[in-house]
Amino acid sequence: MTDVFSRTTRSSIMSAVKSCGNESTELKLIKIFKQSKILGWRRNWPLAGKPDFVFPKSKIAVFVDGCFWHGHDCRNTKPQANKSYWVAKIRRNKTRDRLVTRKLRREGWSVVRLWECAIAQNRINSLFKTFYPKGRMA
Ligand SMILES: [Zn+2]
Repeated sequence: MTDVFSRTTRSSIMSAVKSCGNESTELKLIKIFKQSKILGWRRNWPLAGKPDFVFPKSKIAVFVDGCFWHGHDCRNTKPQANKSYWVAKIRRNKTRDRLVTRKLRREGWSVVRLWECAIAQNRINSLFKTFYPKGRMA
């Protein structure tokens, strides 16, 4: 596999993509939680796969999956340059996502995975279905 980027360049590209995508999406979700009076969430909870938000009491782990990094088929997330590198990387991420979800479910957690595009587009209705499957959350 050839990689046209040097190791340093590549890692700075990756961290730029990662930090700008994730930060704003997470902040937006926090805003939605606050507006909707959804309480009981924590960040940086020590759990497999590092969920973005955890509701420890109700044992719900929420992952906000970046569309690019986790291979969502929603928009311009298919890299053209250096394709084989990204395809392999994204495939590894998807495999890891599945393993983490399975592991947490075995341990009794409900796992919620949200695509960043759903949050970015304020598709809050589907968020609420996710968060209130039985009418109540925390
Ligand atoms: Zn998406």
